[in-house]
Amino acid sequence: MQTKLTELKARLLEASDLNRANALLFWDQSTYMPAGGAEARARQSALLSRLAHERATDPAIGHLLDDLQPYAEGLPHDADDAALIRVARRNYERAIKVPAAFVGEMTGHQAESYQVWAAARPGNDFKKVQPYLEQTLDLSRRYAQYFAPYAHIADPLIDEADYGMKASTVAAVFAELRRELVPIVRAIALKPLADDACLRQHFPEAAQWAFGLDVAREIGYDFERGRLDKTPHPFTIDFAVGDVRITTRVDEQNLGDALFSTVHEAGHAMYEQGVRPEFEGTPLGGGASAGVHESQSRLWENIVGRSRGFWQFYYPRLQAAFPTQLRDVPLEAFYRAVNKVQASLIRTDADEVTYNLHVMLRFDLELALLEGQLAVKDLPEAWRERYRTDLGIAPADDKDGVMQDVHWYGGLIGGQFQGYTLGNILSGQFYAAALQAHPEIPAEIAQGQFGTLLGWLRGNIHQHGSKFTASELIQRVTGGPLSIEPYIGYLRTKYGALYGL
Ligand SMILES: [Zn+2]
Repeated sequence: MQTKLTELKARLLEASDLNRANALLFWDQSTYMPAGGAEARARQSALLSRLAHERATDPAIGHLLDDLQPYAEGLPHDADDAALIRVARRNYERAIKVPAAFVGEMTGHQAESYQVWAAARPGNDFKKVQPYLEQTLDLSRRYAQYFAPYAHIADPLIDEADYGMKASTVAAVFAELRRELVPIVRAIALKPLADDACLRQHFPEAAQWAFGLDVAREIGYDFERGRLDKTPHPFTIDFAVGDVRITTRVDEQNLGDALFSTVHEAGHAMYEQGVRPEFEGTPLGGGASAGVHESQSRLWENIVGRSRGFWQFYYPRLQAAFPTQLRDVPLEAFYRAVNKVQASLIRTDADEVTYNLHVMLRFDLELALLEGQLAVKDLPEAWRERYRTDLGIAPADDKDGVMQDVHWYGGLIGGQFQGYTLGNILSGQFYAAALQAHPEIPAEIAQGQFGTLLGWLRGNIHQHGSKFTASELIQRVTGGPLSIEPYIGYLRTKYGALYGL
């Protein structure tokens, strides 16, 4: 059995290494590659994708998994080997359901569609992307068919990002959240708008960069095993437990942009850096689900990074870094500015309270598209309509409307957005559990000490990688299933105080 297990791990490691090598090509393309490299890079990347898919779907892996099944069944559910065989089987069975020819067609189309979107978006030209999006919808439906039977056509796509979730379960959670959230949004809308002019001054890039680096390091992102670079869209990418990189962007006219993006990505990266090293290159490396991953980034960005305690500690240093801009802005005014709530058009710029409304409407539109209830040509108007009803405003153009997110233009339609809101919900639930174990955490944050919180996250969440499913992890960590209560409670307390609700 040990020989077979060793062989299984060796084969899985090869597939993983090919994917990591491909990820490095992507990182380089996003950061430093000259434009002239694009064509060769696309070809090299497609080759590595194909080789990785071939390795991952090699029938030899299936035979090894069959042979190892009795061994896995003799182990406790939470034994490392049992989890490894269980997750490897899940991944293998998913991969072999999709023919290699389809994967080639899909990745080729996605690369082309992304290029067309990137070129058409500044010119606000939805007509250009429409035929590509129609083909993406067709590919998404065909992709789902490989996993039939299912209760809803979006289920296989949702399951891929947030294993164990279905359209019906996500819709039920979202309906419950909406019932609690909308009255809070309405109540805040009746109050005077917070003033965030202090964030909208000129803040030179070098000083912003230095401050963001310090904060990322001090909250616990390990630069011995990571680095920070600049890209138009911030992201986290990992090549090994010892090499997890983040990127950010800097807007000299908006102090919040780089700072909170950096903290957000550091939250993702600390998760990856905290996975047990022996899981590296196995299916147990990496995060449990899109939702759990996002819970870590949002916990650091919002619950910690937008808390009063965090700024009690950091604000004097921020004022010292930008004396002319912030000298006359009191801490309380700054705290209100970074927590300004206002209905807006762009998801990634949205505040904590309205953010989930952006996600929920995208989730509903994905279902309508996949069900055939909504045609791609009618999508821009459906988008505007939902923004009008849900947020009370609508974009004047498609650039800031249906063309704002890369997801549908570089990926499939379905399963792309629910993880963001599941992550918000989980950030509240996990943080409440951390506070129960360590009530001293908020006082420590106000002293610039983050070790207790990070240690708790490491011990309870990070180290396990994807050994446990999201629902298993939530049960282990919080003692119950997914619940919106802690998150809603957090929003009510914080924004109730801020807006006098
Ligand atoms: Zn994120």
